Amino acid sequence: MQYEPTIGLEIHVQLSTASKMFSGAATAYGGTPNSQACAVDLGLPGVLPVINAEAVRMAILFGLAIDAEIAPRSVFARKNYFYPDLPKGYQISQFELPVVARGHLDIATEDGETIRIRITRAHLEEDAGKSLHEDFHGMTGIDLNRAGTPLLEVVTEPDLTCASDAVAYMRALHTLVRYLGICDGNMQEGSFRCDANVSVKPIGSTTLGTRAEIKNLNSFRFVERAINYEIERQVELLESGGKVVQETRLYDPDRDETRSMRSKEDAQDYRYFPDPDLLPLDISKVQIDAMRELLPELPRAREQRFEHTLGLHHADAVNLARDRAVADYLEATISAGGDPRSAANWILGEVFGAMNKDGMAISEIPVKSEMLAELLSAVSDGTISGKIAKEVFEAMWQGEGRAREIIERRGLRQVNDTGAIMAFVDQVIAANPEQVEQLKSGKDKVLGFLVGQIMKLSKGKANPQQVNELLRQCIFD
Ligand code: ADP
Ligand code: MG
Repeated sequence: MQYEPTIGLEIHVQLSTASKMFSGAATAYGGTPNSQACAVDLGLPGVLPVINAEAVRMAILFGLAIDAEIAPRSVFARKNYFYPDLPKGYQISQFELPVVARGHLDIATEDGETIRIRITRAHLEEDAGKSLHEDFHGMTGIDLNRAGTPLLEVVTEPDLTCASDAVAYMRALHTLVRYLGICDGNMQEGSFRCDANVSVKPIGSTTLGTRAEIKNLNSFRFVERAINYEIERQVELLESGGKVVQETRLYDPDRDETRSMRSKEDAQDYRYFPDPDLLPLDISKVQIDAMRELLPELPRAREQRFEHTLGLHHADAVNLARDRAVADYLEATISAGGDPRSAANWILGEVFGAMNKDGMAISEIPVKSEMLAELLSAVSDGTISGKIAKEVFEAMWQGEGRAREIIERRGLRQVNDTGAIMAFVDQVIAANPEQVEQLKSGKDKVLGFLVGQIMKLSKGKANPQQVNELLRQCIFD
């Protein structure tokens, strides 16, 4: 029998609010353990939670971006369970009435096909604390700084059918929440993490198989590997006459396998009930319309505009639209006079290269968009060659000023004067009689060598096109 996989993802998006979901404690990452947990986060007796209005605005913005319904009234519920990092004994979440429901995200698969992934719901909830196992011998430390941090849990329908589509969806969502400015997307710090539900069924069957849920995957690579491992495990299990049990599993990246963690609890195990300390969350049409005004151009629309209006290659358009600040930088370079394709190539090449080398974000780089535009114009009007432009770029990166200043100061102007270039050509021909003979007898490869020699002699400044033409004339005419 042949099997096909079904995958549904639940992604926890940490909202980048300054304070927590229900308290005024700070959400900043990396503080001294337990320095950012107040009485509300600990659920001490007599305290009352207050809904963070900014988190609600972010949820609305997200709902609008995925074309979802924003519930005029949603309700917070208590999800009861015991765990040392959850001192209240319950997590405040949303259950029956989430703030966002029935949206979708269109994604491009590996073969360039567009598919629509339905998003069942997105609900607001609070994060739990963290158990620290490393520093305490024979004991576990509890850090409650993360307790109460606002999360938007985004749940898909079981619409995905392979690991690579799951990753494509996850990437698209990651890009989207960063565009919206509602999440920093930092996966190492846990700001964006994924639970993957995986099942397999006989090809063509209309009933879904029993699923396993793989918890807390915090990288795209792990999501892909864990899903593929899990599909294989389930198929092998079924083929050898076994049965998949519904359970929660953990992925171990070191051994590249998933392992059973616990049998899966059902919703009823959590004894959800509406939180009596919180009023229902009412959202007005006015509020929704106000958020609609703030909706930026979305990544996919921008990607398509880059491809179709600016004429960029599809892959380049995707790469440049992925980060909003990078996309803005590209557009600013173009507005300052840069040719779209050259600007794209320069950003993907030199700019990204230098950013990687120096560990900089685009907002921090010394070569501002109008400086790059100036450099591009110096290339396109023939002041310098593309090769010299790299030297100028490096100098700009080192803070030596603007492109045209550097070109003048360093004497980098391209030599376009036929007489001057001819002198270089003659010199190289005279110095390389053997190669000239080879070229004449049809060894075309030697041409590159000679051109290289001439360019070297001119310190890279001779117009390469003219060098080529003049050299050919001298030898063949
Ligand atoms: P829970 O909250 O208990 O994990 P849900 O019913 O909310 O359960 O489903 C969680 C995720 O599991 C959703 O993304 C859903 O699409 C996915 N899912 C449900 N059934 C299956 C299945 N048989 N195979 C794969 N994924 C599934
Ligand atoms: Mg789940």
